[in-house]
Amino acid sequence: MPNLLEINRLKTSFLTSGGEVQAVRGVSFGIGRGESVGIVGESGSGKSVTFLSVLRLLASTGRIREGEILFEGRDLVKLSRREMRDIRGKQISMIFQDPMSSLNPLIPVGRQVSEMLWAHDRGLSRAEQEKRTLELLRMVKIPEPEKRMKSFPHEFSGGMRQRVMIAMALACRPSLLIADEPTTALDVSIQDQILKLMRRLQAEVGMSILFITHDLGVVAELCSRVIVMYGGLVMEESPIDELFANPRHPYTRGLLNSIPSITQDKARRLTPIAGSPPDMIHPPAGCPFAPRCPYARVICENRLPPETVLGEGRRSMCWLHAPDAPATDNPFKGEGEVRA
Ligand code: SF4
Repeated sequence: MPNLLEINRLKTSFLTSGGEVQAVRGVSFGIGRGESVGIVGESGSGKSVTFLSVLRLLASTGRIREGEILFEGRDLVKLSRREMRDIRGKQISMIFQDPMSSLNPLIPVGRQVSEMLWAHDRGLSRAEQEKRTLELLRMVKIPEPEKRMKSFPHEFSGGMRQRVMIAMALACRPSLLIADEPTTALDVSIQDQILKLMRRLQAEVGMSILFITHDLGVVAELCSRVIVMYGGLVMEESPIDELFANPRHPYTRGLLNSIPSITQDKARRLTPIAGSPPDMIHPPAGCPFAPRCPYARVICENRLPPETVLGEGRRSMCWLHAPDAPATDNPFKGEGEVRA
């Protein structure tokens, strides 16, 4: 069965007074129906710009330069604004990091949910809107929904506001939900509740989820596959279990070494990735991770590594794995695994 979403060679830039910021530089991946995929990377990796390109919600200075974004077989890049408006909210929904700034502080939450229903189905009567609003608030476990639907956003906690946002995102039963750091602003126990809720709703509604985050731990909770981005490119793609058991790309290893684990040796120190992300106005000719990579060689700085298939559902963009890397320049060639 074809993927629900298929992104091919996407390039997105922003025009600034300092030059063209090449935020996404040729990204390809797909999401199957009912699948949950995480996109992980630090700030400036291109993960948020990728999903804003899918939704065609780029700032006025943003441009999709190349590539296609096939959703249900239609190229979203070629759709008119009106056609995109019909798709957003109805077939593709989104939730963002800060529910307070996404909700209108002057309108009761119940009305905000029913307005979302009405925006996509003008034939709904008031009674039907109210009935479905209550169903949605129950679905996301808002206590006493009949009473709470009349409350304003400031009368809700951060976790409850995020539940309202999820209810709004699910109002039209989308086939794809894009969630951009939806748990970052929440404390850990609430974060856990929201992730459990999303997992349950995904099973009930059968939608696909694209989860954007800088936190690999969050991805492990919800996703079956992960895409690691850096410098506007996909560095590694892998089923989630294999990524944790055997990360292949040096950047992925760096990310994993920098997060704590409850099972790890307490004496082991976390290792941050030294250095900072590349200048995307003048992106490097070679591997964008080269200045921070402990394995970098001459070729890494001069030539962009090719994408190498490492197995079923696994790929990496690294000279360590490229079969055609010059032997003299790759001390790992023939030695099997990366020595990290
Ligand atoms: Fe490191 Fe070179 Fe691989 Fe880039 S291509 S991650 S610099 S080894």
